[in-house]
Formats: sequence, C-alpha cells, structure tokens
Amino acid sequence: MTVSRIDLADAATPEKLVLEILKNEPGLAIPVPIEALARQLDIVDILPLETDGYEGGLITPVDKFNGSILFNQASPRRRRRFTIAHELGHFLMPSHVPSAEGRFLCRLQDMLALKANEADRRMKMEVEANRFAANILMPAPLFRKDAAAGKDPDLSHLVKLADKYDVSKEAASRSYVRYREEPVAVVIARHGKVLRVYGDYAKFPGLSAERARPVSPYSLLRRRTHQEGVPSDIDETDAGVWIDVQRGRKPPALYEQVLLQRDGFAMIMLSMNPPDEDEEDPEDDLTSAQRLRRRVDR
Ligand SMILES: [Zn+2]
Repeated sequence: MTVSRIDLADAATPEKLVLEILKNEPGLAIPVPIEALARQLDIVDILPLETDGYEGGLITPVDKFNGSILFNQASPRRRRRFTIAHELGHFLMPSHVPSAEGRFLCRLQDMLALKANEADRRMKMEVEANRFAANILMPAPLFRKDAAAGKDPDLSHLVKLADKYDVSKEAASRSYVRYREEPVAVVIARHGKVLRVYGDYAKFPGLSAERARPVSPYSLLRRRTHQEGVPSDIDETDAGVWIDVQRGRKPPALYEQVLLQRDGFAMIMLSMNPPDEDEEDPEDDLTSAQRLRRRVDR
C-alpha cells in the first residue's frame, strides 16, 4: 500500500476520506485488510482493550501524530474488524478530537449509532466513525454493484455479501437496505422481541414494530418453525403485520424472510416491489380530460 495521511489532508467527511483512500489504493483487496490499512495510516499498535464495558478505543495525542487502536478481545472477529475501522475513522476525521487524557473509548451502542441529535457532539462523532467503518469495509462502488445482483432481496444473498466483505450480517444489512433498489428493511430480533430495525425510510414506509416489543404473532418468524442458520423461503405476508396501512387504501405486497441465528437471535428481511412495479391505478397515466371522458362514457 502507498496511501499516506498527506493524501487525505483535504478530506473532512467519512465519505471523502474513503474516496481518497480508494483513489490512492485502486487495487485494495476485498475483504479490505483493515489492520494493514490502519498501520499504513500511522496506527502503530492494534491491541486488546483492558477496560471492561467498551468495544473499542483509540489512544492518540491531540495533534494525532500517530495512534494506537484498542479492541474488545471477547468480540467475534468480524465485529472486531468493524471496531478497528471505526477507531481508524476517529483517528482520520480532522474534527474528532480525543479527550483530555488523549483517547476515545467507544461502547457497543456507539458502534450501532446511525443518527445523532445535532447538539450531541460526541454522538455525532460516533455516527461519523460508523459511516467511515461501513464505507471502508464495504466500499460503495463495489458493494452497490454486489447488492444489486440477484433478482429479489434475499437473506442468502446478504449472508454471501457478509462473507465476501468479512463483516457481520448486521453490518452488511445496514448497507444492503441502503443500496438495494427495492424498499428493504431488516429487523433484528431476539427471543421474539424487536431489538433493532434498519431501513432506508426514503424508500421503505416506517415500521409499526417498536423496539423491545414482541414481533407480531402473524409474522413469518412466529407463524412457522425455522431451522437455525438456514434462510427461510420468501413469503408474502399481510403488510399490516409490519407497517401501518391506512384504512381504505390497498396495502402494498410485503415479503418476509427469516434467518434464525444462535442465542435466540433472528434476522427478518422485509421487502416490497420497486415503486414502478406495483400495480397502478389504470387511470394513473391518463390526463384529467381523458379520465373525465372515461367516466362520462361509462
Ligand atoms: Zn467511537
């Protein structure tokens, strides 16, 4: 690798940083060798963390001359990769300034944060570090193309992408729902309760499922028994099970697929047809004059 921090000097957002790294490392391997990349960018040590309750950390002077990344040794390898990428994000983002003790300490909850209140500076940094981590481990130009392959959104496809990019299925699902053309959402459940929900709400209508509430008994997760580690068939369901359907409106077709995982975890993929494929009112394409004429003719 030849990229250096000087090449990144003008980059002030996570996306711009990743863009500059990719520009300087056009042959960057997939899965991205995140530790080697960190070392190339002035991270001198990558060490197990000795403080309980944290997922990752970064030790660096205020001038960020160099840095050491800390990770939770007890975490699965793929989560550790994300943690290292997240800490590298704190190191490279010019606006991320370490605490007075010269460090960042990040909890698991921080690694999951996707949005923050404008006023919450610390949380905004966590969100940016996560954007950097997702973007460097799943570079958009490649991941977008890979995610678009395959006819329908499918958990088997998602599992393959997680393997290819060497990220957790949950991390892959956050990028998958963004890059897939169809409206897709992924619900992470544990012991039948909603834990986390990911969706691009510009495309996917808001889910009625609330955090910590039980998954509807009419959902595929609870309607059928599932085999651990094997994605279920994709099943059409009543959209009202997952989204608020306005009275008098025809609910959209909604598809469900379940992947039962270890320790009571389950992943539920919800998808809908792309907007232009939905059945439309045959009168939608007509001008108002044509519509009026049809009504008069009847
Ligand atoms: Zn952090």
